[in-house]
Amino acid sequence: MYFDPRSIRPMSGQFIGGQEVREGEAHAVPSPSDSDIAFSVDWASEDLVDRAVTDARRAWSRSGWGSSAPRERAVILHRWADLVDTHAEEIAGLEAVVSARIYPEVMSRDAKVVSGVLRYFAEYADKIDGTVTPTPQNSFSFTVHEPYGVVAAIAPWNFPIILAAWKFAPALAAGNAVVLKPSELTPFAAVRIAELAVEAGLPAGLFNVVQGGGAVGAALVKHPQVDYVTFTGSSATGARIMADAALSGIKPVSLELGGKGPQLVFADAPDLDRLAATIARGITYNSGQVCFAGSRLVVARPIADDLLDRVLAQMRGGRTGTTWDEDTTIPPIINQRQLDRIDAIVADAISDGAEALCGATRIDADRAGFYAPTVLRGVTTANRAFRDEIFGPVLAVQEFDDEDEGVGLANHPDYGLTASIHTSDVSRAFRAARRIESGTVWINDWGRRTDFTAPFGGYKRSGIGKDMGRSGFEKYMKTKAIWLELH
Ligand code: NAD
Repeated sequence: MYFDPRSIRPMSGQFIGGQEVREGEAHAVPSPSDSDIAFSVDWASEDLVDRAVTDARRAWSRSGWGSSAPRERAVILHRWADLVDTHAEEIAGLEAVVSARIYPEVMSRDAKVVSGVLRYFAEYADKIDGTVTPTPQNSFSFTVHEPYGVVAAIAPWNFPIILAAWKFAPALAAGNAVVLKPSELTPFAAVRIAELAVEAGLPAGLFNVVQGGGAVGAALVKHPQVDYVTFTGSSATGARIMADAALSGIKPVSLELGGKGPQLVFADAPDLDRLAATIARGITYNSGQVCFAGSRLVVARPIADDLLDRVLAQMRGGRTGTTWDEDTTIPPIINQRQLDRIDAIVADAISDGAEALCGATRIDADRAGFYAPTVLRGVTTANRAFRDEIFGPVLAVQEFDDEDEGVGLANHPDYGLTASIHTSDVSRAFRAARRIESGTVWINDWGRRTDFTAPFGGYKRSGIGKDMGRSGFEKYMKTKAIWLELH
């Protein structure tokens, strides 16, 4: 056991003005790993949301954060990143105990991504220049970039601290204040990270955290003093947020939403064993609770049988267990509702003619819910297993005869977050990459690396705008053109 879950002591309140605020109704936060373990968090009332936002606005104005020397902001963010590193064990415990993230992965990846993202965006703070624009000689015009003010950030539960950091780090580095609402299912690690910010020297109130469900998120989005909304979550919630932002002040929004990523495999794909391992990992990693999961295998008919045999071999083995157990490789599904949803979609696909090559069942483990890695062959494009994001370890397989058909199947009618193409032919790889309607395309690969440089965001219903990379920083600033008439 990496840690004793009963030793975890999370902060249960909101974090406003640099301190914990204990108000609001207590709600249970169950552990997906073990139903005997549950914590509690206070959900913010509308008044508390208002307090968090007005406090952030006040701190932003009084501290001069947005007009300070950008290097001063960078220094504080670097100190904060160091503190995240030194508290990684504590953060990992808070994260693992209520999420599906396995403790060693939070230690080796998630916590390091948070500190790395802080450092990466700290270094953007003083590197975005304005431009002098071409004008007649009797005038002078230049652009400056300015922070919005208060940014509302709303995060999901599947990679809680990584996805929160993708937002708060660039927004703060660009000179904004941030009010974060983590998912009600995974509220604890982010609030500890916010506490460390104050220890690093971030003025109290510049980074507030409110807790609660959809209503709390909606109150935050609609608050008149919120200037920008950045969201990661489902497409359905994204649509509501966009409408609320439009109706409460025409606020800019950026939306990182769902995905239904294809693994498009041509008959000349290299190294089928390695490819099979990539495909299996693409749908079983984090038990498939990944927005960029490779959840559809679109494979050339001549190699389909061979490749599927190898994928099935890769899917065998694996051990379910708690996120703090040293032997766990298959983490739990986040909650019973999600488990029921996965099961219903799989049953629906099977009754619609798909063949289950493996899985298609819950795995009973002590006091928690797991779903067996599942491969469904012959899923039709009308079926939910093709159309909907399942967010579980379920791979939907379709076969094609020529390149046009393959690309056509790979292009999903609704989603366009990520896609993988596997082929030995460079021209085909580039041709297909240009035809794929998706914000990210991997060639002979799948999965995000821990680099921060590439923008990440979807086409179609997978989102609007990008997180990470230069555009993931610039979106938190508005551009002003200043004109001077020369006499
Ligand atoms: P969700 O949409 O249910 O919830 C996300 C967040 O929004 C939560 O904090 C929730 O409390 C809040 N929320 C719910 N209703 C709201 C409302 N009306 N107004 C404001 N906030 C509201 O999503 P989830 O189940 O937490 O996360 C899984 C989803 O997130 C999947 O669809 C997944 O693909 C997506 N996701 C996308 C990315 C990406 O980068 N594109 C990354 C991770 C997850």
